[in-house]
Amino acid sequence: MSKVFVVDIDKCNGCHNCQVACKDEHCGQPWPPYSQEQPLTGQFWMKVKEKERGQVPVVRLSYIPWLCNHCEDPACMKAAPEAVFRREDGLVIIDPDKAKGKRELVDACPVGAVFYNEELDLPQKCTGCAHLLDNGWEVPRCVDACPTEALRYVEESEVDLSAATTLAELDGAGPRVYYLNYPKRFVAGLVFDPEVEEVVVGACVRLTSAEGTVREMLTDDFGDFKFDQVEADSYRIDVTADGYAAVSMPVDVRVLDRYVGDIALQFTDDRSARPTAAETARAQRAEAEKKWARLRASMNTKVTTPANFAVVCPGCGKKMNTNAEAGSIRCQFCKTDLTDLVKQKAAECAVKKTVAQA
Ligand code: SF4
Ligand code: SF4
Repeated sequence: MSKVFVVDIDKCNGCHNCQVACKDEHCGQPWPPYSQEQPLTGQFWMKVKEKERGQVPVVRLSYIPWLCNHCEDPACMKAAPEAVFRREDGLVIIDPDKAKGKRELVDACPVGAVFYNEELDLPQKCTGCAHLLDNGWEVPRCVDACPTEALRYVEESEVDLSAATTLAELDGAGPRVYYLNYPKRFVAGLVFDPEVEEVVVGACVRLTSAEGTVREMLTDDFGDFKFDQVEADSYRIDVTADGYAAVSMPVDVRVLDRYVGDIALQFTDDRSARPTAAETARAQRAEAEKKWARLRASMNTKVTTPANFAVVCPGCGKKMNTNAEAGSIRCQFCKTDLTDLVKQKAAECAVKKTVAQA
């Protein structure tokens, strides 16, 4: 039984507590036989790296806690077997007494987890807080400090690591830091109709890999789409929507995430068969009114209409007080018929005055 580090990138909020806790534990204090003190600057045995992804306007920042992976077959140990040892619990330790002057250990680590302390003439790295574990601690300081459980130190046999990845640089070395939700690539874009200058909602977007694997989604209410956790590869995007000519384009995410920008769809059907802007607006208003009605019903609300309120006469522009209960209403100044206006105003005020019943 031995423990491994499990890092869930989706839970890491970049608070840096783990990084600070490591500094607090090791700066200014040696923990023999595992370490000499960590310098205040220049070394991060635990470091929260920031990975910027995408292009404006779709940009995402992922935080990646980074530390020695305590490999089963460590390259650092191969470089200086007399100065590096592996404990029974799997922690890899650079012996601070035997490693003096062994600068080659810095280059030996494929992920740059070893730092050189010029003042002490000593290579140094994460010890997994072996001194604390020896004294009854269940987890290292960094894990203890993590408020979101993004960082865990757990028995390997008690955690499902089937979806976890390890760092590619350490392939074959048996790294013992497992990452969940390690960021892959994303492909995002927006679909719009240039003729009416509107986004296209519900367009079908397909992402097809070179091997023919297909992922599919519909554009949302803003015409946006986003495929996340895509493997770094070349793909084809196909966009289709009723009444529009299909659009196809290649997209390469081997190096970077991609925001492909605005994809214009050309309408091919008879425009006259399409609802006009006014018809669409009426339909949307009717739908919104239905939603309001459902919401009011679900809130067990009552609608109150104020007895008196002011309206501005569209005929003369003068403001006058009126009463929603009145039947036919005319402007007291220019006699314009205000009946419809007052009814509309009363309805608007009624919605605004919706209150929840006790
Ligand atoms: S990550 Fe680097 S320093 Fe840590 S055990 Fe592996 S090779 Fe050694
Ligand atoms: S303490 Fe946890 S949440 Fe904060 S940066 Fe470190 S791993 Fe992420």
